[in-house]
Amino acid sequence: MELINTKAELIRYLALKRKNNLLIGLVPTMGYLHLGHQSLIEKAVQENQVVVVSDFINPTQFNEAADFESYPKDINRDLKLAEAAGAEVLFMPDLKEMYPFYPNIDIKITINNSDKALFNDLEAKYRPGHFDGVVTVVAKLFALVRPDKAYFGEKDFQQLLIVKRLAEECFPTIDVVGCPTVREPSGLALSSRNARLSEKQKQVALVISQALFAAKDALDSGERDPKLIEELMQREIEKEQSLSLEYAVCRNDSDLEPMSEISDNARLLIAARLSSIRLIDNLGWQRR
Ligand code: AMP
Repeated sequence: MELINTKAELIRYLALKRKNNLLIGLVPTMGYLHLGHQSLIEKAVQENQVVVVSDFINPTQFNEAADFESYPKDINRDLKLAEAAGAEVLFMPDLKEMYPFYPNIDIKITINNSDKALFNDLEAKYRPGHFDGVVTVVAKLFALVRPDKAYFGEKDFQQLLIVKRLAEECFPTIDVVGCPTVREPSGLALSSRNARLSEKQKQVALVISQALFAAKDALDSGERDPKLIEELMQREIEKEQSLSLEYAVCRNDSDLEPMSEISDNARLLIAARLSSIRLIDNLGWQRR
């Protein structure tokens, strides 16, 4: 595996691959790689001849300085995992490489502050500016790597839908592929931020996935009122007093709009804080 730190070197490296008509897959990450990232890389390896994993803690998507500063980092861990999963390139730029005038950000892409839930509600509401940072860095990576396919996790479901829109509107040749959430056997969704949880806090955090699975069971049993489903999830979360709930909602799976009644599919989404750590998780439901 090649470790590449500069845009110029990456452009040179990929030009050769493109000349040979090799399919290029991109897996954007912020590092501290785990089995969730590994599943994205492995899927990319199955579907492409060259897989680039980017590893960059993107400052513009953090709406809290402390969260950015305490984001876990371990270069050796990332090198090992990316290589073992079959990546050909690990692209690890420094801040100035991605934002030449940092801390000034001269060019930024923004999502439209419309009345659509996708751009205005849930993560967009609780993390102002977050998705502007995400689309900015993803656009930079898309323009740089020009992949045939790019892989994103359902773990960040709203992000996945927004990145799909970004590609449709600005990078129509790139196919954005969504990949299922990888969980610990306990049900806890894997996340780099879990490294900041104590064992005790991990037990508390479990309530989030338990609430999602309880709601899914209720849907499987025929409940179709989103309000009742949301109340059920809220009650589950309230069992853990140290969790402070931001939202627990049942939305349309395709655009995250609220629904008056659930028909064929839905997306259950939860965000909660455990002391300073913010946890998100979601689950899709389809009528069987
Ligand atoms: P991050 O490094 O947290 O920005 O994540 C990089 C990519 O990995 C994003 O597309 C995430 O949605 C995805 N990802 C993170 N955690 C998981 C997980 N547990 N399962 C599947 N994909 C994940």
